Parts: sequence; C-alpha cells; structure tokens
Amino acid sequence: MIANYHTHTRWCNHAVGEIEDYIKAAIEAGLKEIAITDHVPQIENDDMARMRWEEFAAFNKELDEQIEKYKDEIRVIKGFECEYYPEKIETYKMFRKEYGYEILILGQHWCDHKRIDSFAKKEDEKPLYIYANEVCEGLETGIFTFLAHPDLILEKYNDDKWDMHSEKVMRQIFSTCERLNIPVEINVNGLRGGRRYPVSEALKLSKEYKLTYLINSDAHDPRFLSDEAIAKTEALAKSFNIEVTPMLGKF
Ligand SMILES: [Zn+2]
Ligand SMILES: [Zn+2]
Repeated sequence: MIANYHTHTRWCNHAVGEIEDYIKAAIEAGLKEIAITDHVPQIENDDMARMRWEEFAAFNKELDEQIEKYKDEIRVIKGFECEYYPEKIETYKMFRKEYGYEILILGQHWCDHKRIDSFAKKEDEKPLYIYANEVCEGLETGIFTFLAHPDLILEKYNDDKWDMHSEKVMRQIFSTCERLNIPVEINVNGLRGGRRYPVSEALKLSKEYKLTYLINSDAHDPRFLSDEAIAKTEALAKSFNIEVTPMLGKF
C-alpha cells in the first residue's frame, strides 16, 4: 500500500488516535498520500458514533494545521465518509467548496434514514434492495470519489449465504460503478475485524465488470496503517486476479 484514502480519527468517537498520530504512522509506513476521512458530521447530531456538528470547526482547524506541519513529508488530503441522502448533498458540496474536502467517500451506513444495524434484518432481502437503490442513486450524483465497502449490507443480511438477492444487488452496484467509472473499495477493516466483507463471491462477481479497485485500510487506529490485515487483503485481491490501483489520480 502506498496510499490510503479511508482513515478515521478519535474525532468520530469510535476510533483512537489524533490526526497527527495517523499522519506520523502513514509517514512511517512509507505512504505517499493519506486522506483523513472521518464520518461526516450531520447537523441533526443523530449518530453518537461520529463528530458533533459543533466540533467541525475545531476538527477542521486541527486538520489544516497538521497538513501544513507535514506538508514536506506527505500529501494529506481532506475528506469525509458520507451517507447519501438527497437533502445532504448541498452540505457535502459546501464542505468541498468552502473547506477543501476533496474526497467524499460514499459509505452507506444508514439506510432509509436508519442506522444500518437497526434497518437490516437477517434473512429479509427487502433492505438489500433499498440499500442498493440508495447507493446507486448516490453514485449518480457524481459527487462521490469512490464507494466504500460496497458489500457492507450483506453481513446484515445473513452470515455466509450467497444467494440470488445478494447477486442481484451487487450486480446493480457494480454495473453502476462501471458505467460511472467510480472506483470500488476492497475494505481492509472488514477482514481485520473478521467481518463478512470483503465478500469473496462479490469480489468474484465484480470481475465481470470493468472496475477500478482501491484497497483502503479504513483505519480506526494509527497502527492499522501498516498491519498484516492490509497484506492479507492485498493477497485476497490477488487471488481473484484483481488489479488494484495503488494511487488515485485526479479526483
Ligand atoms: Zn468508522
Ligand atoms: Zn464505512
């Protein structure tokens, strides 16, 4: 790994380490660039597992200071991981335009305006389709740089069964990414945490589409910028003959 575009910090309330700790760890790991992409704050503050809306100014100041401090050693990119909702798009554009958040990751942790854990039900395929529709609608807006953990919903659906519904929704998502030329992430944090994703069947299926792939640590701890889960995910991609893009070009 020479670049990581998915990094959280203690500001999101479920990760450890200051922004600076991640930058230092990235330099130590030999990365050429790192995007700090905490979960985007929402004005409603309806998710405890992310920074409060009121904290944004302090977070942004800290991030700008750290970027300046390390500018000769590493390129640090400002970004956010965001859910798609039509009413949020203007706010996301504002973060990009006014504050320079260049990378907006689509990570649909909320579906139908509910946290995915309470929204998805085991063995109920309806939420899968709602998830896929929201993801694809989000991709169509053109504001997202890449799609994080596209198969996130599958772990909420069942433990290990790949069925026609799983295939159908992943085809919908991959074909949209292909058509819009939006990179797809292979998420290290899923593998690191022993979670269901990255789902092998989804990776295999994705090969039927012409996709750009990124491997991202999705670090919630500075040590996770150079842990063995990264190498394991790289090996997993290789086992499917998936060529991973080491660095994003323009975005
Ligand atoms: Zn997180
Ligand atoms: Zn995520």
